[in-house]
Amino acid sequence: MNPKDRIAQLVNDLNRYGEEYYVNDNPTISDVEYDSLLRELEALEKKYPEYVLSNSPTKRVGGINQSKLDKIYYEKPMLSLANAFNEQEIREFDYRITKEGFIPSYVCELKIDGIASNAKYEEGKFLQGATRGNGVVGEDITANMRTIKTLPKKLNQDISVEVRGEVYMRKDVFNLLNEEKTSLGEEPFKNPRNAAGGSLRQLDSNITKKRNLDIFNYTVVDAEKYGLRSQSEALKFLVDLGFQVNPNYEHCDNIEKVLEYLDKWKDARRKLNYETDGVVIKVDDFAMQEEIGYTIKSPKWAIAYKFPAEEVETKLLDIIFTIGRTGNITPNAVLEPIMIAGSLVQRATLNNEDFVISRDIRIGDYVVVRKAGEIIPEVVRVNFTRRPEKTKPFVMIDKCPVCNHELVRTIDEAVHYCVNNECDGRKIASLIYFASRPAMNIEGLGEKLVEDLYRLGYLKSIADIYRLENHYEELIKIDGLGEKSITALLKAIEESKNNSFDKVITALGIRFVGSKISKMLASNFSSFDELERATYEDFYAIKDIGTSIASSLVQYFSENKKLIEELKDLGINPLVAKKNKENQIFSGKMIVLTGKLETMTREEATKIIEDLGGSATSSVSKNTSFVVAGTDAGSKKDKALSLGVEILSEEEFLKIIKR
Ligand code: NAD
Repeated sequence: MNPKDRIAQLVNDLNRYGEEYYVNDNPTISDVEYDSLLRELEALEKKYPEYVLSNSPTKRVGGINQSKLDKIYYEKPMLSLANAFNEQEIREFDYRITKEGFIPSYVCELKIDGIASNAKYEEGKFLQGATRGNGVVGEDITANMRTIKTLPKKLNQDISVEVRGEVYMRKDVFNLLNEEKTSLGEEPFKNPRNAAGGSLRQLDSNITKKRNLDIFNYTVVDAEKYGLRSQSEALKFLVDLGFQVNPNYEHCDNIEKVLEYLDKWKDARRKLNYETDGVVIKVDDFAMQEEIGYTIKSPKWAIAYKFPAEEVETKLLDIIFTIGRTGNITPNAVLEPIMIAGSLVQRATLNNEDFVISRDIRIGDYVVVRKAGEIIPEVVRVNFTRRPEKTKPFVMIDKCPVCNHELVRTIDEAVHYCVNNECDGRKIASLIYFASRPAMNIEGLGEKLVEDLYRLGYLKSIADIYRLENHYEELIKIDGLGEKSITALLKAIEESKNNSFDKVITALGIRFVGSKISKMLASNFSSFDELERATYEDFYAIKDIGTSIASSLVQYFSENKKLIEELKDLGINPLVAKKNKENQIFSGKMIVLTGKLETMTREEATKIIEDLGGSATSSVSKNTSFVVAGTDAGSKKDKALSLGVEILSEEEFLKIIKR
């Protein structure tokens, strides 16, 4: 679909979803699906400003107001918040502020998943309550807000003030309400937020009263009028007046502290008796807030970090097949792009034929996708209630998608393999794997370049990577490359010769042999020669190596004698690398890095430590040898201090590593 049509379609769909969500309190898609579509629209509008539509949801707050309730108008609009989905986006938010010369401190507040509301008091008495509506026009819900016990009707001081907050339904109240609804044969609410919304916008406030709503307040409108200079002061002021303020907010001196707060609440929030969908991060100082300013939709001085969803639902658009380094064929789901665990996901593995068939996964289905930690996203199950008509059951392919060779399925595995040793797909996959991060980590030699160099005939086997230098003159002439990138690439290739033995073994891509088994092999064998001489029994004797791995190793080293010789001749000599690793300055040391290092990234520092024989670990314990503390070092430094673990500055660390 062309960008103009896609923009129109997204605006149309998102406005419909917005109405279902904001006006009817009955969403038909998940928040994650909504957020992902909105992200797609934002990106397209940025790229094609000429196609931006005036009714775009990126330009407006909230939903379309078609309410039966009376309207009220806001002088100070109730805005929305920009979203951040991962650490990088939080850092970018901070960077946008600091690059203007501000040195902000922040207040982090839990983002309560409820309905935004405004409450007006005159001389200490509750006068009027309203919803956010579209930010400028809200709905009058005074009678309903009066039923909320945690909203004071009389303040501790006789002042006139306007405050904002989130009306929510506690989880226990929600569960009871839904039990009751189900027993009466009524449709239960989808979540506490919708229940709160539906209850708050009732025309009959007696119903609202029975729903037992609560409120947390967080904003004082025109706070400066009361002599308040910051959000932290405003929150204390609210408490003094008698408002319920969420007690879990924290003042954070800098963005590192903000990240620690996010980490702390990632799981802890589940224990609370109310739903939170993130953390709102606000610049604390009001004068600074005003200088930083606003967009038409949200303040630039605040951001809402959304906790990562690890399981989300999205549409399965297609199933495609990829080939791995051992010839293994994997069915992959092509998905409608969706945010999972903080990143945009468009592909997910379907593992193998049995996996797809046992779950009856079909093109056109809505599927639940999971991504936990660093694991590759995986389709977990189908939502059969959303299955469209006329979908077809999955049928596994029987020919290699690259070379068309007949596929073979092993008896003891559910995997199909292309067994053609000359298959281009297999060879390219081996090359990509060899250069990849967990293997030889050759920077610049990514998938696209490997494919291009393979097709141009420069890379036929992994040994050819180390012969690329002989083609310098030809390579710099390839479109999109040039002297600078080829020089950098050749340098990275040269450096990879110093990789440890286990990395080299991993990079060979032997079937069933990943980095863990490679490490084990490298501590039992000290050279390629030893590996080549080893028998099935020698391998089998090693812990964690069973029959399949032992056979695979024997087969690999007998079939690849020529390749191993070539690699040795080209200077990939892990024996030397291994010897060098003994008696290094960090041998046997456990080192923790914390804070921001000025002269190198975390990854670089980790590599240096490992290259010098040590290991970089993430948490401080009494076994930690020492901690390297950069700027803004936080809790890890404190822990080291309390345990009496030595702490080195970056400068001292640089001296030791002789930089
Ligand atoms: P938002 O919910 O992302 O953020 C703004 C709101 O956060 C404020 O109005 C306020 O109500 C709330 N909030 C909670 N705690 C707060 C605190 N401590 N400080 C300040 N504000 C706090 O913005 P939005 O524009 O209301 O809604 C957008 C979100 O709604 C989307 O990201 C999406 O997840 C959801 N949505 C879902 C659908 C759907 O169909 N599922 C449709 C529309 C919107």
